[in-house]
Amino acid sequence: MTGLPFPTVRGATPAPEGLVGLPDRYGRVARDLRVSVTDRCNLRCRYCMPAEGLPWLAKPEMLSDDELVRVVGVFVGLGIRQVRLTGGEPMLRRSLVDVVRRIAALEPRPRIAMTTNGIGLDRLAQPLADAGLDRVNVSLDTIDPKEFADLTRRDRLHDVEAGLKAAATAGLVPVKVNAVAMRGINDDSVADLLQWCLDRGYELRFIEQMPLDAQHGWDASTMVSSQELHERLGERFTLTPLPQVDRGSAPAERFLVDGGPQTVGIIASVTDPFCAACDRTRLTADGQVRNCLFSQAETDLRGPMRDGASDEDLARLIQGEMWRKAPGHGIGSEGFVQPDRPMSAIGG
Ligand code: SAM
Repeated sequence: MTGLPFPTVRGATPAPEGLVGLPDRYGRVARDLRVSVTDRCNLRCRYCMPAEGLPWLAKPEMLSDDELVRVVGVFVGLGIRQVRLTGGEPMLRRSLVDVVRRIAALEPRPRIAMTTNGIGLDRLAQPLADAGLDRVNVSLDTIDPKEFADLTRRDRLHDVEAGLKAAATAGLVPVKVNAVAMRGINDDSVADLLQWCLDRGYELRFIEQMPLDAQHGWDASTMVSSQELHERLGERFTLTPLPQVDRGSAPAERFLVDGGPQTVGIIASVTDPFCAACDRTRLTADGQVRNCLFSQAETDLRGPMRDGASDEDLARLIQGEMWRKAPGHGIGSEGFVQPDRPMSAIGG
């Protein structure tokens, strides 16, 4: 087993009788599945992982390709319409192209997206697009090489730039860039990053740093808030909010930059959470379903599957997990406890 203190497993707690799809007790319905295909990563971003990395899952602990595609198929049968592959770094799973091809063959075919750090995307963008990948979000927090190396603890900025270019060439558009601002590292250069993305036609979204790092070093008092991001970007650009009515379950508040048409998004996951509109569910690389990034417990599918559970049995377990989804993540409320499983082992 890994050395990570993984959260309580709920065990085989089925849903109430008669549920259809993936509703919870608060009227939300999950349609968007985030699948972590590996917990390993080739960067060591300070807001995510310690310098020495983490005790990775051993291969037998991870879902095989057959298991993974089978579970995704059960989710699709329950109404999932978008599958986002993530990790860890999803491109570190050798079979990724094949996994994408198999997910694209499911009926009805879900939209397939991937969140990646972009390293290796220069080689894989076209094969992934050919296999059925529709879109990518590439994580890039700064275009200053020194800041990049400081934040990620790796000197790989050129690889990410090459990956972004290849994604656009392969038609994985709109190419989105995800960024986290960290106090004292890249908070001064957020406007430079926006200009760089505008120049290349990439759609940038900032996300507030969340308490999901393996080191438990997150500090609300030093977090760069959405308000501060807005102010810093506003020093160089005119930001005009797009109507909220267009937002749906999308977490980013979007702004036209200098009158548009290009936009920037700011995701206030901590200071203005969008839990009431959340339509997400998550599958970890070791086969646990989580109804929220911040869940303290999760439902195991791997054990039941290896013990011979039918697709109907798995569907009932998934419905049970979703039915128990809390109304909100509770960051900032008294009694909030950061989940033991870090972002890299959940799938961001
Ligand atoms: N390796 C891939 C990547 O870099 O995009 C996928 C996994 S990574 C965990 C997914 C996203 O989570 C990245 O955009 C990363 O910046 C973000 N992330 C990681 N830790 C975070 C934290 N503590 N708060 C907010 N975002 C975080």
